[in-house]
Parts: sequence; structure tokens; C-alpha cells
Amino acid sequence: MKVIAFDVGGTNIEFGVIEDGNILKKGETSAKGIQNQESFVSILKNIVNAAIGDRGIDAISMGIAGLVNSDTGEILFSPNLPFLNGLNLKKALENVADFYIDNDANVYALGEWQFGAGMKKDNVVVLTLGTGVGAGIIANGRLLRGANYYAGEAGHIVIDFEGQICRCGQRGCIESYIGGDYFPEFARYYYRRQIQNLCEECTMLELSKRAKGGDIEAMYLFEVYGKYLAVGLVNIIHLLDPEIVVLGGGIAESFELFKESMTNELKKRVIGFERRNLKITRGKLGKEAGIYGGFVLAKEKV
Ligand SMILES: [Zn+2]
Repeated sequence: MKVIAFDVGGTNIEFGVIEDGNILKKGETSAKGIQNQESFVSILKNIVNAAIGDRGIDAISMGIAGLVNSDTGEILFSPNLPFLNGLNLKKALENVADFYIDNDANVYALGEWQFGAGMKKDNVVVLTLGTGVGAGIIANGRLLRGANYYAGEAGHIVIDFEGQICRCGQRGCIESYIGGDYFPEFARYYYRRQIQNLCEECTMLELSKRAKGGDIEAMYLFEVYGKYLAVGLVNIIHLLDPEIVVLGGGIAESFELFKESMTNELKKRVIGFERRNLKITRGKLGKEAGIYGGFVLAKEKV
């Protein structure tokens, strides 16, 4: 089976042609100039035509941030490209090929589940740690979408009900502590108290470089990161009892820097932690998880 899988972000549209689980071709194009649904659809069609040539394709798939009706193919809410709201891509692309779409974290999770660190186990949670915090949940061997396609909004698990305000408008969501836009702000504030050592241009990447270079402040900050993450994970683990939790997204690249503090906190808080068959690990596929996941989405019709 041959699939062209799109991964639509706020700034780039990435895609890959994947046949029977092997990526044949990859590419990307900027999403910045796209202003309306028509131009979006025509860009997709152009990419598909250029990528497949005369040899045809069995399906097109897509992962996109936001809320998606994976049954009808309609984009219900796109935070990055709001003009796409209401677009039914299954209809728009019906003359081209079969079309499958889901939330990007779900697609990412399908990839790690079938081709990466998820090892095809029946109960897997894939958490994406980046600017946002998202999750894809495999429960009893199936992707859990929920009654309204909202399942897996892990970033808005509340870890402090009187805590700081999240971009969703609520207080104390875990994303407002460990999200890639939020944690560096905390880090800047923390560094200012050290006086001698500042990090005014702090990003997660910069923090990671500093920590790996032995910067005490940055190393401590990753310990704090691990502790916050663990508190979110405690809720997920108690609710879903997964066998594997896979950490993906850019910040998971720094797993070694926060693994110990995360594990120590989990040991303290998770009921039966030592007795559970539970592994917490880094994802294996990186950004390609979205392409592998798009293949799974189309092939398994999950
Ligand atoms: Zn929130």
C-alpha cells in the first residue's frame, strides 16, 4: 500500500510518500502564504501530483493540530490556520484518492505505536512535548478518540487548580508549566535571581545546550521540568494504566536531562509503580512519526 502522508504545522506542511512502511520520498513547503481553503487544497493537489507521477497512490492522509472529525474528514478547529475551519478535505480530495485525517498528536502516536517505541503494545500513551503538550492514546489496541474527538488533550491536565493561566484560559494546566513557550519564561526568571548567570534569550534548546555543558542552573531547571512532567504523568498513568509511555516532540530530545527527577517523582506518586509493567521511554522516530502514523491511519483505518 502506498500513501502520501501530510503533517500540517503552523509554519510548514511536511509530507512523505510511504509504501508498505518504507519512506520513499520526503518534502516540505511553507504554509505561510496560504490564505484560504482553495489555495490550501490546490497546494495539496500539486504536491500529490508531483510526488506520485504516473504510478498512482492508494491513499492520502493528514495529521493537523486542532480538532478534526476523523469520520467525515472535516477540520473543525485549526488553531494555526483558522481559515481551514469547516473544510471537508475528504470531499475536496475525493477525485484524487481515499483520504484519512486526524489530530497530529494522534497520528504521531500511531507512528510510534506501530513503527517506533510503542512496540505495537495494546496500551500505549504517546506524549508530545513541544510548544504544546499533546497526547495520543492507544487503549486496548485502539486509538482513543473520545465522543467528540477531544481525547488526548493532555496539555490541559490541571496540576495546580490555582496555578498560572494557560493559553486555553484556565489556570494550572500542565502546558502552562512545561510547554515550550512557558518553561523558558520560568527559566529566565530563575536565572535573573542568579545575577552572574543570565539566560535572557532562553529557549528549551538553549537550556538543553547549557545543561549538557554543565551549567548548574540549566541542570537544575531540567530537574524541575521532570518533576512537573511527572505530576502530569501520574494523572495519565492512574487513569489509563499504560504499558508504555512514549515521550516525543522536541523537548523529549533532552530526556536524559530530566529522566531521573521524573522517575523519582513517579516512584513517590504512582500507586504500585514498582509492581507495574510500565516503561517510560523516548520516542524513536522523531519528526518522521507523523509520516509513519499517516501510513498507519490509512492502512489500518483505525
Ligand atoms: Zn490549558
